[in-house]
Amino acid sequence: MVTPRPHAGSGALFERARAVTPGGVNSPVRAFNAVGGTPRFIRSAQGAWLTDVDGNDYVDLICSWGPMLLGHAHPEVLAEVNAAVARGTSYGTPTEPEVELAEEIVRRTPVDRVRFVSSGTEATMSAIRLARGFTGRDVIVKFAGNYHGHVDALLAQAGSGLATFAVPGTPGVPTSATDLTLVLPYNDRAAVTAAFAEHGQRIAALIVEATPGNMGIVPPEPGFNAFLTETCRSAGALFISDEVMTGFRATAQGGWGLDGAVEGWTPDLMTFGKVMGGGFPAAAFGGRADVMSHLSPEGNVYQAGTLSGNPIATTAGLATLRRAGDEVYAHLTAAGNAIKAGITDAFTAAGLPHRIQSAGTMFSVFLRDGEVRNFADASAQDEKAYAALFHAMLDAGVYLPPSAYECWFVSAAHDDRAVQTVLDALPGAARAAA
Ligand code: PLP
Repeated sequence: MVTPRPHAGSGALFERARAVTPGGVNSPVRAFNAVGGTPRFIRSAQGAWLTDVDGNDYVDLICSWGPMLLGHAHPEVLAEVNAAVARGTSYGTPTEPEVELAEEIVRRTPVDRVRFVSSGTEATMSAIRLARGFTGRDVIVKFAGNYHGHVDALLAQAGSGLATFAVPGTPGVPTSATDLTLVLPYNDRAAVTAAFAEHGQRIAALIVEATPGNMGIVPPEPGFNAFLTETCRSAGALFISDEVMTGFRATAQGGWGLDGAVEGWTPDLMTFGKVMGGGFPAAAFGGRADVMSHLSPEGNVYQAGTLSGNPIATTAGLATLRRAGDEVYAHLTAAGNAIKAGITDAFTAAGLPHRIQSAGTMFSVFLRDGEVRNFADASAQDEKAYAALFHAMLDAGVYLPPSAYECWFVSAAHDDRAVQTVLDALPGAARAAA
């Protein structure tokens, strides 16, 4: 039994936060709703480690939900950011760093042209508007369990049936915002074929996480993304690959390269975020030149942003991507493999049912047996056991994502000491959860 670490400082801040902010947080999962207890307020971070306001250190397996590919406070990235800050923080004019970051993204991915925004939500929202403007059609297809930010039209759960138009997943989204959204079960070719047979002429775009990570990692079955591309192409709809989480994270390029039948699969549009902002609010959407040219001011599909392409954010993104070479991804793979092996050993010894699924360097852990192919499978796991696991890990100095449906992220700074801390914590936590 591990003694809970003192967290009076976090507790006091959480009280103050709840008085002035709904739930005390600025993004719901941070409140520990799914696991209970007091969220730890972090004061600083360095490399693979977080330090909370009570002075506790934790190995960070959240990595800001993906962005911190190189680890926290990377000295060279910080030096470039500090130099950029000294030149002023925002001008509202074109700048050189945004050109350089756009060139880097175009070099690494299949997109011809790219436009910067400030969040992944804005990226998917804008990609959908562009797809509708380009095709002159209205219907959008998405998959259950795929998260594309809190865009009204995409914040939808399917009703019953194979291919139903969606109902809003939250109060505040009018049905008129989602009744042009079709939600299908993931990895289900028959459902896709049926939906396109019935509504193909009205479909502007299909949006999919290149390899979903927001219900835990649920990789596309071999050839699924190529099949989606082909289906979209025959219907005259655009294929949008959402790489906000996977881009420059799953692999040096993103998740699109992981599909078994990547040959011939080129998304019409892609969305990016997280890693490409180097820990700052930056995101992007990009794609085929003939589609992107419909965007204002070249074309007539309007889209804009006061802080879009902000010089500090684009400097941080560029400084991160330029250091994200093969050795970084090899390191993520090695650190991830060591942790995955530790999970298998510890959970098996404790008799805790589990399944690890991976996509490139990314992985997640489901507390259930058997393959997870879609959202229904992902939902059938033991969330109580995850809460117990989470708290035992936290008390042993490892900050896991406070939800059973998230990836466990590592960084290039997760060295032997950080990985060993995780490995040492796993057996006791597995016993606590079993
Ligand atoms: N798309 C995907 C695949 C995501 O994982 C996320 C966020 O987790 C988003 C879009 C939304 O990005 P943001 O939170 O920056 O709005």
